[in-house]
Amino acid sequence: MSGSRKVHIKSFGCQMNVYDSHRMADTLAPEGFDETAAIEGADLVILNTCHIREKAADKVYSELGRLRVLKDEAASEGRRVLVAVAGCVAQAEGKEIIHRAKGVDLVVGPQSYHRLPDLIARAELGETVIDTEFPAEDKFDVLKAPSRQAIRARGVTAFVTVQEGCDKFCTFCVVPYTRGAESSRPVAGIIAEVERLADAGVREVTLIGQNVNAYHGEGPDGRPWTLGRLLHRLAEVPGIARLRYTTSHPGDMEESLIAAHRDLPALMPFLHLPVQSGSDRMLAAMNRRHTRADYLAIIARVRDARPDIAFTSDFIVGFPGEAEDDFRATLSLVDEVGYASAFTFKYSARPGTPAAELAEQVPDEVKSERLQRLQGAVDRHYAAFRASCVGRTFEVLFERAGRHPGQVVGRSPYLLPVQVAAPASMIGEIAAVKITGVGPNSLFGALANERVRAGPVPADAGG
Ligand code: SAM
Ligand code: SF4
Repeated sequence: MSGSRKVHIKSFGCQMNVYDSHRMADTLAPEGFDETAAIEGADLVILNTCHIREKAADKVYSELGRLRVLKDEAASEGRRVLVAVAGCVAQAEGKEIIHRAKGVDLVVGPQSYHRLPDLIARAELGETVIDTEFPAEDKFDVLKAPSRQAIRARGVTAFVTVQEGCDKFCTFCVVPYTRGAESSRPVAGIIAEVERLADAGVREVTLIGQNVNAYHGEGPDGRPWTLGRLLHRLAEVPGIARLRYTTSHPGDMEESLIAAHRDLPALMPFLHLPVQSGSDRMLAAMNRRHTRADYLAIIARVRDARPDIAFTSDFIVGFPGEAEDDFRATLSLVDEVGYASAFTFKYSARPGTPAAELAEQVPDEVKSERLQRLQGAVDRHYAAFRASCVGRTFEVLFERAGRHPGQVVGRSPYLLPVQVAAPASMIGEIAAVKITGVGPNSLFGALANERVRAGPVPADAGG
């Protein structure tokens, strides 16, 4: 059904929010809302927010300030614009948002998106609506599936949430509070969703969750399935050529998942495995539940199963009490693992988390200086990894037209974009590409006729 109203959804933060934004758009489409990329002219604006670091939460309030102006301008033209705040800031701050930012009509937490049509109807009647409950019903049973047209518009790769929430309680992290306890979707609903995506042309699916490898959803046999078992089943879906999963906790890299890296060609040789710190003292203070040695042992087991795998990670610098020696242990871990790339963050004290209460907060100048040094180390490995790709031949999934005519952009198994001279008709296809050059954040390649040889990533190549 084509709608007469327009909704603009802006996502902040992680891939789970991107997925949630799609599902919100899918749920609003039958209610007569067409999604629009332009904020001007929208009847409903939803900010899907992130609370993980202070900066992310602050962005929301500056965006709400801009929206207030837009809303007033629309009102002066006789048009009503509804403003909704969704996501983790909504969950964490609830009615505080209404007090801090004028012009917000609706605050909705991540577990209530299936109720959006009803909540919006109430807001349209003039009520200021707040729904940050953790309802008993399963939102995935109620959220609407995307239309074939919507899937096609989103491209040949897709995210599918299979797990939500977290029970790990790392002392710095808000996720267990904003997303709630760990829960897994049953297998049947995930298979149905992946089949629908594949049927509309999706070739690559990334399974997502705050702690995705803790997956233990109910299988068709009534028993909990591991992520490894789920990946095996999804690899059988016709049309699905590639699988990935993110984000994982080292403590949940169980045997069937490691075996899947060995046995499943569709599972890409790329693993994002956040470690946060290389210092055992910091890992304990962070309540990470693993040591540096445990982490290195897991890396070794996964490498043994899949020698050509590349690793990436997340790091926090300046966690309370972090001394120069602790930080050096992080630098040495970066070299020891040889990451292909990594995300690096300055510790940000989050209200309500145990680490925010610790006395030994690290001064911001020290955090900035460590961040720069760590980023330097990560950049060196990233450059070495990209350079090591030159001359190799990869299977590339072509995703979209490039910036220049006659150019198509695809992804290597290692997620790096590859720019290739190829016809647009190849979008959705997987072809062998020989890597000929390196850009700042991508690779250049040429269509190759040779078959792809999977070889180990050279040891000094960062992967
Ligand atoms: N579940 C994942 C894990 O186990 O590491 C990551 C979840 S979190 C959305 C993504 C990353 O944000 C974390 O890996 C961590 O590096 C970073 N992060 C979380 N809380 C933070 C904080 N308070 N300050 C700085 N970085 C933080
Ligand atoms: Fe946050 Fe990840 Fe730790 Fe869970 S495992 S508390 S999501 S950092």
